[in-house]
Amino acid sequence: EFVATDEDGLPIAGLDPDEVLATPTLAVVGRPNVGKSTLVNRLLGRREAVVQDIPGVTRDRIVYDALWNGRRFKLMDTGGWEPDATGLQGVVAAQAETAMRTADAVMLVVDASVGATTTDEAAARVLRRADVPVMLCATKVDDDRLVSDTASLWRLGLGEPHAVSGLHGRGSGDLLDAMLEILPETPREDFGAGAGGPRRVALVGKPNVGKSSLLNKVAGENRSVVHDVAGTTVDPVDSLVDLDGDIWRFVDTAGLRKRVKMASGMEYYASLRTSSAIEAAEVALVLIDASEPIAEQDQRVLTMVSEAGRALVILFNKWDLVDEDRRHELTRELERDLISVRWAERVNVSALTGRSTARIAPALRRALESWDTRIPTGRLNSWISDLVAAKPPPVRSGKQPKILFATQAQTRPPTFVLFASGFLEPGYRRFIERRLREDFGFAGSPIRLSVRIRE
Ligand code: GDP
Ligand code: GDP
Repeated sequence: EFVATDEDGLPIAGLDPDEVLATPTLAVVGRPNVGKSTLVNRLLGRREAVVQDIPGVTRDRIVYDALWNGRRFKLMDTGGWEPDATGLQGVVAAQAETAMRTADAVMLVVDASVGATTTDEAAARVLRRADVPVMLCATKVDDDRLVSDTASLWRLGLGEPHAVSGLHGRGSGDLLDAMLEILPETPREDFGAGAGGPRRVALVGKPNVGKSSLLNKVAGENRSVVHDVAGTTVDPVDSLVDLDGDIWRFVDTAGLRKRVKMASGMEYYASLRTSSAIEAAEVALVLIDASEPIAEQDQRVLTMVSEAGRALVILFNKWDLVDEDRRHELTRELERDLISVRWAERVNVSALTGRSTARIAPALRRALESWDTRIPTGRLNSWISDLVAAKPPPVRSGKQPKILFATQAQTRPPTFVLFASGFLEPGYRRFIERRLREDFGFAGSPIRLSVRIRE
């Protein structure tokens, strides 16, 4: 068995992966330039180092280890994109959405010197629906005169605006107390042991790609509707479908059957619905219309799947409409637009003719198998020491970072934690990720790699 040790061979205290991973996470969200990074640095104090990087398709999330009044927790900073990004409002709302689905509590940061903008309001609207605790922080409150201004932020509907100055530190102790008050003791569990039952599938894709046609084709009359007994809904929510000898639970198919049309905000609600179906599922079947150019909306759905950490199978539907020319175009589009999910299996199907629909269930099984894979610690560590011996991490500020220990902390999706003696370049982390896939597979599943640095 492996024990993480320092240069003198002494065990490294406080670096027990199980213990570290068992602490809850508070996500910090807000517009660019409201002062998130300044605040996060203030809250951490100087001693804490970056401990995890979670590279996302839309942006990276940075997770820090934090300690306050003897309680350990993680702070996730999701800031840092282009301030003048087009569609900023949507980006911030999506960030809030992701935060409330992945973290154990969320803090929205608003710039008190500016007041609530429409972007802040959009984020607050999303967060008001959150199942996890949410709090509001008004920063840049550098002196007492500004405190009264923060009162107007009550109207965001997220409770008391906690006034702080990230720059001077004013109010940061009280803020930390308030954060720990709302933060649960233990992290949320997505799919705990013993979840059992049929495996859960989200059938998603932009409107008109053929989701309901496909469900009808593969399941036909042969599906039963499941009433969600746990929730209060009386609406049938999921469908049980017999595919290739197994029963699968297609989640949230109610919307597909009802064909609800909304006059305004349709796209926004469709996107929320998609995102909640993905969260509720273990594997996503993403439909893309093969007869049309791959759209930004298709990429957005794929991004949601990989950021949610779900297994993935891509179906190119309407293959009956694809001719030679279109096939060539599609090959180019795949290289250009789907590079970030190249690990996913693709099946060309037609909901109209039934072409290749028999290949769907085997692809789902393979993706889930990757998603469930666990590499034993011993094997992982001998693999990584061979890898590092062949190609050591690049030297940084005159020091050669060492990888002390590796462990697969979680499955679903496979999540690896490396304990290193120094910063590992993003390029080197990508190299490790690539080699993990080359040597162990993981087709159909996202994998995560985080690096923990000992000070
Ligand atoms: P982020 O994009 O939300 O992470 O924002 P930053 O932390 O990078 O801060 C944006 C700008 O606001 C920087 O110029 C900071 O110096 C400034 N700033 C951040 N916090 C405060 C504060 O508490 N008071 C004042 N006066 N300025 C601040
Ligand atoms: P949804 O909005 O994703 O549920 O899409 P629908 O299942 O309602 O399909 C939208 C349209 O595409 C309908 O007119 C379907 O008949 C058509 N369609 C769906 N799948 C196929 C296919 O494989 N080939 C062709 N040619 N048309 C399809």
